[in-house]
Amino acid sequence: MIDRQQRLNELIGLSHRLGDPWLEAAILGEGNTSARASDTTFLVKASGFQLPTITEDGFTEVIFEKVLSLLEADDISDQAVKTCLAAARVSQEAAHPSVETILHGLLLQLPDVEFVAHTHPVAVNAITCARDGEKAFAGRLFPDEIVCCGPRYVWIPWTDPGAPLARRVHVEVQRFLDEEGFAPKVIVMQNHGMIALGPTSASVENATRMMVKMCKILLGTYLLGGPNTLSPAAVERIFTRPDEKYRERLLEKKD
Ligand SMILES: [Zn+2]
Repeated sequence: MIDRQQRLNELIGLSHRLGDPWLEAAILGEGNTSARASDTTFLVKASGFQLPTITEDGFTEVIFEKVLSLLEADDISDQAVKTCLAAARVSQEAAHPSVETILHGLLLQLPDVEFVAHTHPVAVNAITCARDGEKAFAGRLFPDEIVCCGPRYVWIPWTDPGAPLARRVHVEVQRFLDEEGFAPKVIVMQNHGMIALGPTSASVENATRMMVKMCKILLGTYLLGGPNTLSPAAVERIFTRPDEKYRERLLEKKD
């Protein structure tokens, strides 16, 4: 049984830490966070709130089924999406959910995903906005990157934010699930930013922070001939080693 208030408190703490100016992951109204609140609903950041200062009022509880029905609707206007998202709120008094709510809803349906954080880190976007961004994200660089961010990322070519982006992410994440048999920890979106997803607020925070660090290192490697990526066998070994799995669980604060 999910403790809704605890989830809300965790979301507030996670948002404040991801909004810390030191991390350079989100400024002004950038970024949004979410968590499953019950079998049928989730909490998501409302439009117009800022991560570093957000309070309970800045989150809205919405109904999965109503939000996800927007994935089926082709060619729907921005206004119609807004109206549908407003109607998906559990309380009509609550603030309006973010335009990226559909994205959060579909990711929170994946196996072992309870929290989602979407940010626009400077270091990550230095690569998502680069001509060779997709290629640069293809290889893994160091063990902690694999432990916190997973063995492989989902790359999303430029897509209009809102419903079209949610549909594209849905397709690419499904492809990843079919190929790997587990949900990704990180999604990178061309000319836009990143999404971290996982079972706990700590796992989502770790993945975001480690991506920021990894991207700074990755950029540095281009000064000395480009990234020297780990072999697929080495990546697989780190990802499946029992001691690394134990460390992953400790970091994620999971039993
Ligand atoms: Zn965004």
